[in-house]
Amino acid sequence: MSALQNKTIVIIGAGQAGAQAVMSLRAGGFGGRVFLIGEEGHAPYQRPPLSKKYLAGDVARDSLKLLPDAFFKENDIACEFSNGVIRLDIENRRLELADGADVPFDQALLATGSKPRPLAISGVDHEGVFAIRNLADVNLMRPLVKAGGRAVIIGGGYIGLEVAACCRSLGLEVTVLEAGERVMARTTSAVVSHYFEALHRANGVRIEHGVMVTGIDRVQSGGLVVETRDEAFECDWVLIGIGAVANDGLALRAGLKVDNGIEVDQTTATSAAGIFAAGDCASFPSGRYGRRLRLESVQNAIDQAKAAAHAMLGRAETYDPVPWFWSDQYDVKYQIAGLSQFSDREIVRGDVEAGAFSVAYLRRGRLIAVDAINRPRDYMQARRLVPTVTTVDEDKLSDPKIALNEAMSSKL
Ligand code: FAD
Repeated sequence: MSALQNKTIVIIGAGQAGAQAVMSLRAGGFGGRVFLIGEEGHAPYQRPPLSKKYLAGDVARDSLKLLPDAFFKENDIACEFSNGVIRLDIENRRLELADGADVPFDQALLATGSKPRPLAISGVDHEGVFAIRNLADVNLMRPLVKAGGRAVIIGGGYIGLEVAACCRSLGLEVTVLEAGERVMARTTSAVVSHYFEALHRANGVRIEHGVMVTGIDRVQSGGLVVETRDEAFECDWVLIGIGAVANDGLALRAGLKVDNGIEVDQTTATSAAGIFAAGDCASFPSGRYGRRLRLESVQNAIDQAKAAAHAMLGRAETYDPVPWFWSDQYDVKYQIAGLSQFSDREIVRGDVEAGAFSVAYLRRGRLIAVDAINRPRDYMQARRLVPTVTTVDEDKLSDPKIALNEAMSSKL
């Protein structure tokens, strides 16, 4: 470690993972130079409220900050928040910033996040067509999020549905156009999708499935029209929420291995020595799931950035988490532990109609994930049980009165 003390570590991307990395480097005793570089013009902030309370106007901009302003000075962190990295020269250990500045470094962490998946149709450049990734996007949308407005949301994933819930709560007319046969199909089971569809419909959202949007046009009245093969949906503004792709262009141009994200090993090291990646931009090999994963969650950004900081300090560890996630829609708390898409059986606990249930997902008789809807206890217990690879007693598991941890039959 002492050999590191007069070295420079650069963190590219001042988001959730970047913020965690600088904290963990200093907490881990690194006394050398740390340079945190962003491009949004803001110190690191939380993104989850952007599609929830911040969009609704319920929380102030300042409450989104991930670190107090004084943190950077107190911890001797050099910061550049408005001048992103345009070139990573691995061989010569130098970065080029957007204004041409040249930054030498010894080790680098790529924490560049992800960006909205583009939709290849005509009309996406019209004013009033949005995608949400950052504060600037939401600040543009917010004046239109008011009672009486009409919104079309393309994509029934987490972000689209959170925005739909927020807009309905504020009195807008909302239509969700989903290409698949059910909402959130990529991440959850049919029972959970159908519960959320019913919830949104009960709150007045129109949801259409199996709909391929073909274009967006401006109409004479000044509004927009979203066209599908069979129908046209008039509205005041459109949100495109069809998922995200890794921000891995800088890494690709630098010659790093990239395939649906920057490829790292289990310790967060990329294909080049001294260069690491963490958060939404990184694809890592999960021994637990037997494949590469690229996760988009606060948990992953925090925990993988911690692992990256430790690796940079010469204390590499294996990063192979049970992921967890949450989504807030209306007054429903949806919490997820583990990845349910690898299950071969699911057991519903509780009352779906009443909106208090969880779904336990099994693979070869072992608990691998739990989706909890207004059942926080199941979720908290699942976060402890899923990593221990536990087999279950299915009769007990289907009885919601029996606690989840009492329905386990053995630890393997
Ligand atoms: P980010 O936080 O996106 O930070 C990356 C930063 O790098 C950005 O500021 C970007 O501008 C910057 N950058 C990119 N390229 C460069 C460059 N060349 N030079 C300098 N800077 C660069 N997760 C949950 O767990 N629960 C939720 O409820 C939830 N809700 C969400 C709602 C919304 C609207 C969004 C957008 C995300 C949500 N997420 C949620 C996901 C979560 O916010 C992300 O997984 C997390 O922010 C990822 O952290 P990160 O540091 O990898 O990327």
